[in-house]
Amino acid sequence: MSTAAELLLATARRGGIHHSIILQGSSPDALRALAISVARALNCFNGTSGDSCIACQKIDRGIHPDVHLVSVSDERKLISAEQVRGVVTGASLRPYEGRSKVFILDPADATSITAANALLKTLEEPASDTVFLLLTRSSDLLLPTIRSRSQIVRIDESSVDDSDAGPRQRSRLRREARASGTDPRHAEALATSLIDSLDRYASQKETAALLFAAAAVASADDERQSIAIYAGVLRDLAALDPAESLDPVKAARIQGAIPRERMLAAADLAVRALGRLVVNADARMLVEQSVAALARKN
Ligand SMILES: [Zn+2]
Repeated sequence: MSTAAELLLATARRGGIHHSIILQGSSPDALRALAISVARALNCFNGTSGDSCIACQKIDRGIHPDVHLVSVSDERKLISAEQVRGVVTGASLRPYEGRSKVFILDPADATSITAANALLKTLEEPASDTVFLLLTRSSDLLLPTIRSRSQIVRIDESSVDDSDAGPRQRSRLRREARASGTDPRHAEALATSLIDSLDRYASQKETAALLFAAAAVASADDERQSIAIYAGVLRDLAALDPAESLDPVKAARIQGAIPRERMLAAADLAVRALGRLVVNADARMLVEQSVAALARKN
C-alpha cells in the first residue's frame, strides 16, 4: 500500500478526516478497495481499518446502512442526477448505526453537470459525520470548484519514475497521462501545440489562433482527456513560474498578455464542458466557449 493510502487510513481511524476526499489513481479496483478500507476505518467497532466486527462485516457485504457505494448505472455510463439527489438527501440525515456516513462515488467524474452542481452544494455545507470519497483516474476531470473543496490523495505517487525529469509541467502531463492510460507523448504534443496557439494570440492578437487551439482540442480521439489537458495547460499558465513550463519564453509572453483570472475562468469553463460532453454536446462548441473567455475584454 502506498504511503498516501496508509496516511489516509491512519487519519480515518484517528478521526479528523477531511469531509471530501478525491482518491486519484490508475487502478479503479485499487481505488475502490481503498475507499472500502476508509469506510471500515471510519466505522469499525475496534478502531481498525478492517477486522471481523459486525460493522466491518456489513461494509464488506455491502449492507452497512451508512456506507453507500454510488456507481454508474445506466447505459450512458453516468451516475444519474437521481442517484446524486439520493446522496444529497442521505448526507443530510444522521448515521443509522455507524459513526460516519460514507458516500463513495465511483467514478466521481461520471456525473452530469447538473448532478455535479447538486453535489457541490452539499460539499459547501458539509455535515460533521459525513465523508465523501470521490474516485477518479484524474482529478482534472472534476469541477475545479469540487477540487478546491476536497483533499486530493494520489495513490500512484510512489510509481513516479525517471521520465519525470524536466520542467514541472512535463512531469505533471506525463504522470496524469499514465494515470489515465493515455500516451504521454500525445499529451505533451497537444500541450505544446496549445502553448503555441496561445502565444500566437498573446503576441499578435490573432483570434484565429484561439479557434485553432479549440479545434485541436475537440478533434482529438479522446475528447475528454484532451479537454482535461487543455484545462491543465491553462491552469499551469495561470499559476506556474514560466521556467517550469514546457516553453518558458512563450509561457512568459502568454502570462504578460492574458490576465491570470481570465485563464482560470477559461479553465473552469473547460472542465464544466466535460460535464456537458457526456450528454452529447458538441465538444468543439464547448471548447470555443472557453477560448472566448480568454479573449474577453476586461
Ligand atoms: Zn471492525
